[in-house]
Amino acid sequence: MRTKKVGTTGRFGNKYGSRVRHMVAKIEANSRAQHVCPQCLRLTLDRQSAGIWKCKKCNVTIAGGAYQPTTTATKIMKGEVEAFVEEVAPVVAGASAAIEETQEAVVEVKAPAKKKAKAKKSKEAAAEQAENEAADESE
Ligand SMILES: [Zn+2]
Repeated sequence: MRTKKVGTTGRFGNKYGSRVRHMVAKIEANSRAQHVCPQCLRLTLDRQSAGIWKCKKCNVTIAGGAYQPTTTATKIMKGEVEAFVEEVAPVVAGASAAIEETQEAVVEVKAPAKKKAKAKKSKEAAAEQAENEAADESE
């Protein structure tokens, strides 16, 4: 039963002590409140069960904290990931540019070789034709 002092934790009666009931009441109130959906940015994110949060509007289901969608650990991890991406993204971009340059160079090197091969083949074919014609004439 709800009480004025400890709200929803009034259901515990006088058990567990006032301090614990106040702490639990605060956590429960926060977990039952609606939170901002990370996808549509509306105040429609609801707790489904421990760690599972679902948006009423866009139906997105996300994993989060047990009693709140984002925890301190989430914030720290996001910061680490962003710092890593900022550090690595330029390196990756430079590497991909180098790879493209190498591929272009390889294509440039390969192209003349093909032309030469074709030229050789056509010369050989011409020589063979000439021999065949000479053989035909001699007969
Ligand atoms: Zn949403």
